[in-house]
Amino acid sequence: MAKYKLEYIWLDGYTPVPNLRGKTQIKEFASFPSLEQLPLWGFDGSSTRQAEGKSSDCVLKPVSIYPDSTRKNGAIVMCEVMMPDGVTPHPSNGRATILDDPGAWFGFEQEYFLYQDGRPLGFPVDGFPKIGQGPYYCGVGYTTMGDIARQIVEEHLDLCLDAGINHEGINAEVAKGQWEFQIFGKGSKKAADEMWVARYLLQRLCEKYGIDVEYHCKPLGDSDWNGSGMHANFSTEYLREKGGKAYFEALMAAFADNVEEHIAVYGPDNHMRLTGLHETQSIDKFSYGVADRGASIRIPHSFVKDDKYQGYLEDRRPNSQGDPYQIASRILKTIELVPKP
Ligand code: ADP
Ligand code: MN
Ligand code: MN
Ligand code: MN
Repeated sequence: MAKYKLEYIWLDGYTPVPNLRGKTQIKEFASFPSLEQLPLWGFDGSSTRQAEGKSSDCVLKPVSIYPDSTRKNGAIVMCEVMMPDGVTPHPSNGRATILDDPGAWFGFEQEYFLYQDGRPLGFPVDGFPKIGQGPYYCGVGYTTMGDIARQIVEEHLDLCLDAGINHEGINAEVAKGQWEFQIFGKGSKKAADEMWVARYLLQRLCEKYGIDVEYHCKPLGDSDWNGSGMHANFSTEYLREKGGKAYFEALMAAFADNVEEHIAVYGPDNHMRLTGLHETQSIDKFSYGVADRGASIRIPHSFVKDDKYQGYLEDRRPNSQGDPYQIASRILKTIELVPKP
């Protein structure tokens, strides 16, 4: 038997964006525990905006487990928050009620800024870097990339791979101090759980560097510096295997009819980012186009190849602070509105 360090993590009750919380419990197991072996646990919901002080207990229900290579015998345990009865989802528990479909695949591209002393990593104390946007995207070299960002990004990648997260890649982004990682998953819960765990690992890693992760979608406000998105690439079994132009056009009509419903869950302050500039479409417009990075939905070349209209699509509107559970669920809801021929 070995004593395992189980980091139970959950989303708190803050709005519009929940924070990640976590605490450790030690349990003995013969080998790395499976989800079924993990007990329910509790926490003080009055400290997380999830309960009143006089009746403060909330329940943590494990929903997935990941190896944590930063700790000897460590595991990260993603949890849903439940009411004291242990079976009723807490009102803050969005995951419990989202649509899921194992045939629906999601690839999320998480953009974010590394921040130090209240500004993007590498920005001068006052004003902006001498070199404007241009060389940073997928850049290399000390002057553009600095000396610490890549170390963080690489360590984060390894932590995610060690955890078994389906990390697909990383790149430096358009603004100085801005980066991206991609996570792909089959099923909305799996993809979104892995995104939240990857966010957790990144934030925890950055602690030792004295750096914060800034997920706000437009941290530099109304300037010429890019904002951060979380593009949601999606496909269903039908889109991958049947597709077709008529179905695709009906699908886009359904997306056009539900712009407000999508924007409502695509992350706060998105009007600051979706301006029609910086590779975005305006927040109140809906458009799609092949390889069009100024459209709401970008159609990859592979999708329209041989006029098949098969494969995946990229919704470019979700932002970096968006909740991947809600984003994936809304996309599935709109897809469900469209009859398959
Ligand atoms: P870009 O920056 O050009 O938009 P990325 O390579 O960063 O492209 O992201 C593309 C994403 O699309 C990846 O995260 C990948 O997992 C995802 N993806 C690829 N194929 C599919 C598919 N069939 N269904 C859903 N997502 C997919
Ligand atoms: Mn990308
Ligand atoms: Mn990007
Ligand atoms: Mn993209």
